[in-house]
Amino acid sequence: MTPTETIAAIRADARFQVACDRLRADHDRTVTDVVTLTEIPSPPFGEEKRAAAYLEMLRAHGLEQVEQDEIGNVMGLRRGFGNGDILVVAAHLDTVFPAGTDVRVRREGTKLFAPGVSDDTWSLAVNLAFIRALDAAGIRTRHDLLFVGDVGEEGLGDLRGIRHLFAKGRHRERIRAFLTVDSPEVERIVSGGVGSRRYRVTFRGPGGHSYAAFGLVNPMYAMAEATRALAAVPVPQSPPTTHCVSVVSGGTSINAIANAVTIEVDLRSASAAELERLDTRFLEIVNEAVVTENAARSTASGAITAEIARVGDRPAGETPQGMPIRSLAAAAVAAEGYAPHFEFSSTDANVPMSLGIPALKIGAGGRGGRAHSLEEWLDVEPEESLRGMRTSLAAILALAEMEQVG
Ligand SMILES: [Zn+2]
Repeated sequence: MTPTETIAAIRADARFQVACDRLRADHDRTVTDVVTLTEIPSPPFGEEKRAAAYLEMLRAHGLEQVEQDEIGNVMGLRRGFGNGDILVVAAHLDTVFPAGTDVRVRREGTKLFAPGVSDDTWSLAVNLAFIRALDAAGIRTRHDLLFVGDVGEEGLGDLRGIRHLFAKGRHRERIRAFLTVDSPEVERIVSGGVGSRRYRVTFRGPGGHSYAAFGLVNPMYAMAEATRALAAVPVPQSPPTTHCVSVVSGGTSINAIANAVTIEVDLRSASAAELERLDTRFLEIVNEAVVTENAARSTASGAITAEIARVGDRPAGETPQGMPIRSLAAAAVAAEGYAPHFEFSSTDANVPMSLGIPALKIGAGGRGGRAHSLEEWLDVEPEESLRGMRTSLAAILALAEMEQVG
């Protein structure tokens, strides 16, 4: 069967219709769940309370082996009839918003406003709705479905939840494919994982009077030289590769040679090889800038040094064209009349992609916007939301190999 035929067969199945009816009947409940979860703050490195609530929700949905792992992910298994191969269906528990952010949900018509409501709390609620729909319809799948609420997707969380799932998680050896449901829009499928390396580099020197000590090495000049050299590094447009000196701080007074200057640097690429090349070049640049400054001025009172701290490391990867997971997901999107397109981004799917495990980011359904801002919103208008949910449910069932009856 072609991917289009596979999706058509699933959609034509009477049990899939029952599942969709249940999604519709349950819509208010799903909205209630997203409000409940959104109003439990889940800042980076502070997901415990939301994780505990979600763990209980997974348990209430009758999954097996419901548990929290060492890093903080919560999960439960819906058994398949096959040999125990697993399709992961994940959504992330964390938000970008720091502790203390007002996370109360304001409702205007079908629109919900709250930090984190669409990224990615909606997906947590929708994944629960998927479980209820599958159970109501008695749908069985060949693969086990592992539903995961994971920690550490955003920012300096560095994908630590999903990294742990693949590095140490008890199910890791049986995971055959991975879907992260992240953001509402289903037509935007992420098949490329933009990797990143982030650095905090502190240039130090002896410091001194700007006039009286003139001639001593200056960490500001070393920093500037490193920044200039990085700016000149050519990078390919495809695969997209970028560099940015994003934050600078340091210095003590306008009439003093600084004794410390710090920069924060963000390097990214959709290609693991390009990222490695850029990373290596950047580290060379820092060392060259130090050598250049120590040669340019006097080190009699002390030399320039650079302290390099890697503060972020997300692996790059791709689920390449031609992989069935891509064509099935695209066919599911097209079957609902959306135009699927594949994108590069940085999501939980980076981790399995970097390991060569088929992985995508898909949508939860509905519309949202202003993610990562205090004006973040989610439109739960039923028709559009259900259309998106049907899309992703069909994709999940295609990948988990829904049992065909009759
Ligand atoms: Zn997200």
